Formats: sequence, C-alpha cells, structure tokens
Amino acid sequence: MKSIAIDGPAGAGKSTIAKLLSKELGYIYVDTGAMYRAMAVYFTKNNIDPYDEEAIKLAADKVNIDIEYSNGIQQVILNNENVTHLLRAEETGKMASKVSKYSAVRTKLVDLQRELAKKNNCIMDGRDIGSVVLPDAYLKVFLTATSDARAKRRYDELISKGQEANYDTIKKDIEDRDYEDSHRKISPLVQAEDAVLVDTSDLNIEEVVSKIKELIRQKEM
Ligand code: C5P
Repeated sequence: MKSIAIDGPAGAGKSTIAKLLSKELGYIYVDTGAMYRAMAVYFTKNNIDPYDEEAIKLAADKVNIDIEYSNGIQQVILNNENVTHLLRAEETGKMASKVSKYSAVRTKLVDLQRELAKKNNCIMDGRDIGSVVLPDAYLKVFLTATSDARAKRRYDELISKGQEANYDTIKKDIEDRDYEDSHRKISPLVQAEDAVLVDTSDLNIEEVVSKIKELIRQKEM
C-alpha cells in the first residue's frame, strides 16, 4: 500500500489539498486531526479537565473511535455515534490541541492511523504523520504558510459563510495552537528530515495541488 504524509500547522491548507489529491489519485483521505477532535468532543461532553492527565487517561480508556467512508468522505464514529458534524467548531480544535499532548490519547489514535494505512492507499494529514505515524510514507510534504496568510484564509472563510470573525483573535488562536503543537514532548509538530517543504503563503489551491503532483511524478520516475 502507498501512503502520502502531509503535515503542517493549523490553517496551512492540508485538508483542502489532501482531499483534492485523494480524489485524483483514488486514495482514501485520512484526516487525523478529526480523530483528536473526536476525542476532544468526548472529554468536553463528559466534563473532563484537559489539564488533569490522570482523568484524561481514565476517560481515554472508555473511548472507541472508528473511521468509515460515506461517498468518499471520512466519518468519525465515537463510541458508536457519528460525531463528524461536531468536529469543526473552534472550541473543539482548541480542546484537541490541549489533550493531544498526552500519550494515552495519541497511542490509541496512532494505532488506528497505521491500521488504515496498512489496508488502503492513503493520503494522511496531521502533525506527526511523516515523523512518527508513517515513517515509510513514499512522499512526505510539510505544508506551511505564515500565520498572517493562514489567519486571512480563516477570516475570509468565516465571512463568506456569513459568520462573525475577528482577524486578530483568529491570528492569536492560530499562533497559540502552533506553539502548543510544536512544544509538546510527545510527537511535536516538526518537519520530518525527508519531507519536502511547501510554503503556500503565496500560492492558490491549484498551484499547491500541481506542485505536489509534480513531487509525486518525480518519485515515480
Ligand atoms: O488538524 P486539526 O486542526 O483538525 O487538528 C486539531 C488538533 O489535533 C491539532 O491542533 C493538534 O493538537 C492535534 N493533532 C495532533 N496530531 C495529528 C493531528 C492533529 O496532535 N496528527
């Protein structure tokens, strides 16, 4: 089975790019952030303190996460309930970032991620895919952009949906999340040694997709 690993900070465009590429290549798209978010939903629902590692460990034992695909779109099943529609909330992302530093949370999800990659050709995105989860991925991309570019995209996205948005708050949230993700002890966000850096600050979606397709072509030559 072939895997492509795409890592990078929040808002760099990983999921948009991975989704498009997975369709073109006929691979499944594995969104690992959604798994951490599902864990976060469980902890929030059960009032678990994200700073209490022991409580998180006990609660994590009661969580079962499964991944299914409906018309090619990943569905996350948390203890037999489809929670996919709950995962994108800003608060869920923040909670996910707080609890993803615990090994009790990570081990379970990393096992599931490796299992999926063993059975399917996949594009998997996250923070530690090239460095920890799939060190043998045949292509590793580290997708990044300045925090200004990422905040602007998020701002434009919310405004286009008719939602309220404050640019400075969004930028601060992004920078806080970058800090938490890159400073944790276990599996921090890092560029794997053999990953190709793609800075998307000044590129549109088509340009990023064609850049990665070119990297795939080079691998196949
Ligand atoms: O990518 P997304 O914003 O959905 O991820 C939510 C959070 O889950 C991240 O901020 C990060 O803390 C955590 N995460 C992780 N490892 C991954 C994917 C996500 O720690 N492979």
